[in-house]
Amino acid sequence: MKNVLIIGLGRFGCFTAQKFNELGMQVIGIDADETKAGAAIPYATKILIGDCTNMDFMKTLGVNNFDLCVVAIGDNFLASLEVTSLLKDLHASYVVSRASGEKEEKFLLRNGADYVVFPEREMASWTALRFSSEQIKNYIDVTEGYAIFEVTIPKDWHGKTIGEINIRSKFGINVLGIRDAQFPMDVTMDISPSSLLPVDGSILVLGPTSRIRKVFHL
Ligand code: ATP
Repeated sequence: MKNVLIIGLGRFGCFTAQKFNELGMQVIGIDADETKAGAAIPYATKILIGDCTNMDFMKTLGVNNFDLCVVAIGDNFLASLEVTSLLKDLHASYVVSRASGEKEEKFLLRNGADYVVFPEREMASWTALRFSSEQIKNYIDVTEGYAIFEVTIPKDWHGKTIGEINIRSKFGINVLGIRDAQFPMDVTMDISPSSLLPVDGSILVLGPTSRIRKVFHL
């Protein structure tokens, strides 16, 4: 089981704690504000109250024993930068810091962050893409220029098999799953040329973003 230290238990830190907890990880949460810290109690093994810009307090945490440290301070950039840098000085093995602007992202990476998350930008980009077309049901960026989309099955594909349409050779995209609208909670992942595309449903496809947009007229 991995153990994670989350510094800053505002909404972002608290949701992160909840998700890590659901994933079976051991969560220790810290906040300078007792009221904020309270919200994370159900998701953490231990909650500590303290100012993480204070080196003496940080030294007591044994940050090098955590598999992952998340700096979830959003508004106070100076505090976020100081905490990130202190974590690295104390030999934290992997530090993920939260940025709210591109300049901040750069500074954090130069001062000890191994990875920077930019929730507002990531969520904004997802929201714009997800709702840019009624055909898009879900979307995940895989790497630059490649994505997984869940899209409504085009009308002229209804009732045909993957092999009949010859999706991979003809369009250069891979079908990863099929969701029949009659059973919306299930996604068939066992895809073969004989997999049938339902009249009402969606498919998960992986490929170059530009190609997927073209094929499905997104
Ligand atoms: P969110 O956007 O996640 O809701 P927020 O807007 O409530 O957060 P932020 O300023 O982004 O507040 O800070 C996130 C949390 O980090 C807050 O609960 C704050 O008390 C805590 N925090 C800020 N500075 C420190 C610090 N030096 N040490 C410990 N906790 C801190």
